Amino acid sequence: MKFDVTVVGAGPAGSTTAKFLAEKGVKVLLIDKDRFPRDKPCGGGIPLRTLKRFRYLREEDDLIDSYLYGGYAYSPSLKYRVELQKNEPLLAMVIRKKFDHGLVKLAVNSGAVFIDNRSAEDIKILRDKTRVTLNNGEHIESQIVIGADGIWSNIAKKSGMIQNRRNICICIFQEYQMSKEILDRFFTEKRLGYLHFNIQGICGYGWVFPKKERINIGVAEFQHAVKNRLKKKMNLKEVYTMYIKILRKTGVIPDNIKVEEVKGAALPIYPAKKICSNRIVLCGDAAGLANPATGEGIYYAMSSGKIAADVVTKSLETGDTSAKFLSRYQQIWEKDFGREMKILFRISKRRWGRKNEKIFRLIESDKKTTDMLYDIIIGQSNIMGYRWKMIQHILYLYLKDKFKSKK
Ligand SMILES: Cc1cc2nc3c(=O)[nH]c(=O)nc-3n(C[C@H](O)[C@H](O)[C@H](O)COP(=O)(O)OP(=O)(O)OC[C@H]3O[C@@H](n4cnc5c(N)ncnc54)[C@H](O)[C@@H]3O)c2cc1C
Repeated sequence: MKFDVTVVGAGPAGSTTAKFLAEKGVKVLLIDKDRFPRDKPCGGGIPLRTLKRFRYLREEDDLIDSYLYGGYAYSPSLKYRVELQKNEPLLAMVIRKKFDHGLVKLAVNSGAVFIDNRSAEDIKILRDKTRVTLNNGEHIESQIVIGADGIWSNIAKKSGMIQNRRNICICIFQEYQMSKEILDRFFTEKRLGYLHFNIQGICGYGWVFPKKERINIGVAEFQHAVKNRLKKKMNLKEVYTMYIKILRKTGVIPDNIKVEEVKGAALPIYPAKKICSNRIVLCGDAAGLANPATGEGIYYAMSSGKIAADVVTKSLETGDTSAKFLSRYQQIWEKDFGREMKILFRISKRRWGRKNEKIFRLIESDKKTTDMLYDIIIGQSNIMGYRWKMIQHILYLYLKDKFKSKK
């Protein structure tokens, strides 16, 4: 089979790349190792800026499950609580099985060919083309390969771009079916969510994301922050069990919620040094492009897919598929998100490795901070725009607090 581009992996990164390439008339093959529709470990919360950048997400019937209009973030001791609530949605909630399948359908409607249940086992870069070998022995030839095959990307490994991933976040989670009535009662019609910082002493957080008729509960620990501290490593499954007990005890979730077999998964939290080479481009988790402070990755997966599609289209038009030409992808990506990622990684390492009790006490009832946090989450402003304002304001709160306690 011959194509202009082979996209390996049909998650948000791969499907987005395939859709935008096909729209430009590029012959694209999108392949995935799983049979679709398939599930993907995820909380399913996407910030509103994703819907701003990819407007078609709102227009499709089945993509967005519901909206979360705010929620509560708790300090490690549960003593302090920051509340974010507005009349506008804060996060769009998706069911990954439906969302990812919907994105594949959009790519196919734009002209991409989709093959599921086939895994890419190997990749060879030849003088004038690439050759991807599938698990059934079949070879796919194309000009360029997009590696959008997730955190443990075979394409990244086989092409020598990433050997092992050190900076990851490990999660334990589960999504439970729940009636609309119970969800309305516990989380209101605004579907208010919960975050619990450093729950059970972990270097991360616990989350409760209510959806239309489901609830997604998980805990996430950032491994780069764990290395930074002296405490012994936690067993995340035990943390999850304790978290459910705390949620029941504090009335966040119903007492009779049945905890089914939990799932474990990982996500990358630092971009790989090299995300493209001769005839190959990596997107999304395969390139390490997820938010280092929260683990949110769908926005970055889709954004990197769109940037890749633009650069690859130009590369095919000019007939230049060299590493040098494709490095435009990395340059555009870095200009868009590079600095933000580096800053978020540093904040994440520092903050998740410490108890965040005091900061919660300071900002609990401070409207200015919560407004800034709100703007960052929905994407009204990015961390770069607010960094100094935020630091200055928190410094001011610290000094005010010190002065008050001396009095
Ligand atoms: C527990 C958990 C919770 C999360 N919660 C959120 C959240 O609330 N919000 C958010 O924005 N992000 C969240 N994320 C991150 C988000 O899931 C990822 O960043 C996002 O899915 C990345 O998209 P992707 O397309 O790069 O990769 P993926 O979605 O992982 O897709 C990769 C695809 O490649 C396929 N594949 C893999 N290997 C091969 C192969 N050899 N051949 C063919 N196909 C292959 C896989 O089957 C898969 O379909 C969470 C992650 C985890 C683990």
